[in-house]
Amino acid sequence: MTDEITASQHLPRNPLPRITRKVFRDLAIWMMSFGLVMGVIFPFFVIALGVPSHYVLSPLFFAATIGAGLVVGLSNQFLSRAVVGSRLRFMRARMNKVEQNLRDAIYSGEASACTPESCSITVDSDDEIGAAAASFNRLVEALAASHQVTELSRRFATTLSSHIELGPLTDAVLRDLQSTGGFSAAALCIVRDGKMMTTASNGFTDSAHLAESEPVLRAYKTLESVRLDIPDDLMIDGGVVPFRPRTVLALPLQLRLVPIGVLVVASTDVVTDEMENLINLLLPNFTVALNNALSHERLQRVAAMDMLTGLYNRRFGLERLGEDFARAVRSHEPLGLVLFDIDHFKSINDTYGHQAGDRVIKGVADAARSVLREGDTLMRYGGEEFLAVLPGAGPDDLTDLGERIRRAVQENAITHGHDELQATISLGAVSFPSTEVTDTEDLVRHADAAMYVAKSAGRNRLNMAGV
Ligand code: GH3
Ligand code: MG
Ligand code: MG
Repeated sequence: MTDEITASQHLPRNPLPRITRKVFRDLAIWMMSFGLVMGVIFPFFVIALGVPSHYVLSPLFFAATIGAGLVVGLSNQFLSRAVVGSRLRFMRARMNKVEQNLRDAIYSGEASACTPESCSITVDSDDEIGAAAASFNRLVEALAASHQVTELSRRFATTLSSHIELGPLTDAVLRDLQSTGGFSAAALCIVRDGKMMTTASNGFTDSAHLAESEPVLRAYKTLESVRLDIPDDLMIDGGVVPFRPRTVLALPLQLRLVPIGVLVVASTDVVTDEMENLINLLLPNFTVALNNALSHERLQRVAAMDMLTGLYNRRFGLERLGEDFARAVRSHEPLGLVLFDIDHFKSINDTYGHQAGDRVIKGVADAARSVLREGDTLMRYGGEEFLAVLPGAGPDDLTDLGERIRRAVQENAITHGHDELQATISLGAVSFPSTEVTDTEDLVRHADAAMYVAKSAGRNRLNMAGV
């Protein structure tokens, strides 16, 4: 390790001058050798032209021609050193400057410190020196691109690690990818409950249709990218994108050869191979983050769910009630609550067994759920007790809805062997703000009291609080 450091410290910072000196030394030796050879040959050449040999074959003449050859060789060497050397020195100074600009750009994080003007050298000839300058420029470009890719991957990794919830994660990733690739639209399709669905989309008109499109399904099935380059003269219908795409990419997301989904991007310009490779480079990490977000979502769902009925459990259901109550207070909209309990359930358990009792509980949950609207919350509040939270429901709506729940349960008999188990429920309902309450606990207390009245009054009936 120490040796390496010592060795690198002794390396010249810019080895060009030493190399240049070697080139010129070699050049000098060649030129002078050539001059020497010419000096030796020249007298015989003169004889061949008819000059009498006794003039030429004298030591003085030889010395003179050899001397002249050496002088010409030396002058050539000095001239080339002056002309070529000055260009090389100029190039070296520019290279040093470019190196400094590139370092500044990398360490300051200011990409603008390295523009095509400040981070390249002028190619002013089409000889070897010009070619060397062009190669140097390409090398700098490759270095800058490599730095950009590293920087992009780092930013992308930050985006991935900042979100665990599926929605915010996919939104942030689509935004990042769009700004990186200049894509006009991006969408993510994943398979949920056995069906390909668009989970996040930005810039597409009909994102639902996108999930069933042939390129997306092909990319998913074959695990290979699908690239559509749309020629300028091809007519396309504007049903999926509100602009004219030039390239559409459907990129499969896979985890150890298991497909998870497909990323779709569309661009009004041709997407270069370089950009496609770059996006492909980012996808494996995105797939891992996506898989984590999906697992997280599944866990959340399981944690919120009652396993027997598939309804919200009490803890999550009451959280939803808290949110709906806060919204009702803010918006002055009514909020209805219906609490209901299976009548004489103990005797069902005792007569038919606990498992049949469980099926009755599930049957009651399904029947009640079938009459509720989207936005209503139904939770398993206790063993065979349920609570329905109905945003927007005033006393009249509650009477109507409560009755429908009661009837749905009564009409939904459970077959047990040769028997039909027909459960009934007693319901207590309360509506805020018709009934004044301080908080959600107070609201549930009122519903509970109303239900107790329904039980006492003979069961299988609805009783409204405060009526
Ligand atoms: P009431 O009409 O007054 O409500 O009479 P009830 O017999 O239904 O009385 P109660 O509501 O107190 O009965 C609750 C019974 O429900 C007691 C408990 O054994 C049973 N139970 C609670 N949870 C479950 C469950 O998950 N499965 C089954 N099979 N029974 C349950
Ligand atoms: Mg009961
Ligand atoms: Mg009970």
